[in-house]
Amino acid sequence: MPSVIRTTTLPSGEAVPVLGQGTWKMGEDARRRADEVNALKLGLDLGMTLIDTAEMYASGGAEEVVAEAIARRRDETVLVSKVLPSNASRAGVARACENSLKRLATDRIDLYLLHWPGSVPLEETVEAFEALKKAGKIRHWGVSNFDTHEMEQLVDLPDGGYVQTNQILYNLSQRGPEFDLSPWSRQRGIPLMAYSPVDQGALARNARLEAIAARHDATPAQIALAWVMRQDGVIAIPKASRQEHVRQNVAALDIELTPEDLADLDRAFPPPTRKRGLEMI
Ligand code: NAP
Repeated sequence: MPSVIRTTTLPSGEAVPVLGQGTWKMGEDARRRADEVNALKLGLDLGMTLIDTAEMYASGGAEEVVAEAIARRRDETVLVSKVLPSNASRAGVARACENSLKRLATDRIDLYLLHWPGSVPLEETVEAFEALKKAGKIRHWGVSNFDTHEMEQLVDLPDGGYVQTNQILYNLSQRGPEFDLSPWSRQRGIPLMAYSPVDQGALARNARLEAIAARHDATPAQIALAWVMRQDGVIAIPKASRQEHVRQNVAALDIELTPEDLADLDRAFPPPTRKRGLEMI
């Protein structure tokens, strides 16, 4: 039986785990495929049932890795995938979704995101998402890499208020969103999904985290994750293809950062003092 991970609530009222699994860079090399599938399966066993992927990753290859990992356990998975802005027209979204469903070997995506803002009018993409919802191909939709002004435009559109999440770059080294995007999202009950929560592995090697990690008998990566996940309405989606990393990431849920830890982290990774445009990778 999978363990139960703390959850946060989407605007739809559905609860989703605050810790999920990323898949960028998976599906690129056939020699690593078994490790990737096994890491995702272990993550599912340990309760990380939210899996994030995208049509872009390995040109669909990551979605195929996910399909293998969730085979016969689709119903326990919260499947998140993304459509490229170049496919964000009404017809393009429908086509891209069909292709993702085929690669994922499923009949529905739980949360379908626009990967980043593009040139197709947002209203058209929202209409396309809503049509997919009615057809039962997706259950919910959201966006990614949207800054505050873009979220404001989105929620003003007809049906724009159905947005369920905004997936953004957010970690100790990139705290820009705390200035206005995080408070804006929290106020409206729209969870943020923090991608690259260990800064693509860089925070795992960051010496400034070592003393705090030692206090918790933990690793720097676990401290970085615990810091992201301690915040209400934030979902972290680290990518781990090593089983050891998968286990450590789940264990990070049990780390309770103290006021002293948080003050030390603020000194080492200062919070923003002014608005900066949302960064993306
Ligand atoms: P990340 O999760 O911050 O870092 C992944 C790297 O950290 C991998 O090299 C992984 O190693 C390592 N790692 C994971 N857990 C670790 C641990 N406990 N200790 C030490 N190292 C650890 O970076 P990311 O992959 O860029 O971001 C996560 C996910 O967010 C992506 O996979 C993707 O699904 C999503 N994402 C979305 C966007 C977007 O535009 N929406 C952009 C980037 C990423 P191993 O793999 O060797 O275990």
